[in-house]
Amino acid sequence: MALLEISAINVDYDRVRAVSGLSFEVDEGEIVALIGGNGAGKSTTLNAISGLVRVQAGCIRFLGADISTTEPHRIVETGLLQVPEGRRVFAALTVEENLDMGAFARTDRVAIAQDKRQIFDLFPILSERRRQFAGTCSGGEQQMLAIGRALMARPKLLMLDEPSLGLAPMIVRNIFHTIRALNRDRGVSILLVEQNARMALKLASRAIVLEHGKRVLSGPSNVLMQDPTVQQAFLGRSSLAA
Ligand code: ATP
Repeated sequence: MALLEISAINVDYDRVRAVSGLSFEVDEGEIVALIGGNGAGKSTTLNAISGLVRVQAGCIRFLGADISTTEPHRIVETGLLQVPEGRRVFAALTVEENLDMGAFARTDRVAIAQDKRQIFDLFPILSERRRQFAGTCSGGEQQMLAIGRALMARPKLLMLDEPSLGLAPMIVRNIFHTIRALNRDRGVSILLVEQNARMALKLASRAIVLEHGKRVLSGPSNVLMQDPTVQQAFLGRSSLAA
């Protein structure tokens, strides 16, 4: 059984179909990437999985259960967490308070404190900034905080929407190393949305290419990296520079 199973979903905004007949799976322990240009439907797909937008057709299963009509907070409780595009930390709360917010559905205080220590080990800069308002942190620190906050909910599947967006190349490398470590060392499965296709294909074992809300290509990352269409559309100069 796949951890996450997307079957023929459609998502519409008024009369515009943003995602059309999309199917794919994420297995336990995998990193899967969704790649595609602006407006391809990547964020909409993640938002549909999180329950933030509703599917008009098709089915989303997580751990075997149909979550297509489940409330977003209940979906979080099942271990499916999204780190939204643009980081969206609580700017007026401290770094530590942001992490505490990530554990809102938990009552196991000892384990919560332990998890927080682990996140500070993973991102030492967050420990240094723990009493600082999140809004005053750099973009890279806010991205680490957004990931850390999601980790406080002990995700089985972490969905990351454009984690590299707007960050300096060195910070991007750091974030990507952390994502790999989370997957390898802690067994967190990951669904990654990225415009930085080169990075995404290096990190993921498999990828799905979206165009106008439809799956146009999919397969093992090393195969897609050699695909002329992918090379031309996503691995050109601009991606090299990123
Ligand atoms: P980007 O990388 O630019 O965020 P994306 O692949 O994540 O692109 P989506 O944001 O999912 O793409 O958008 C898919 C389509 O749905 C686009 O045509 C977009 O204009 C449209 N869309 C997205 N959000 C809304 C909304 N809230 N209302 C109406 N249309 C929307």
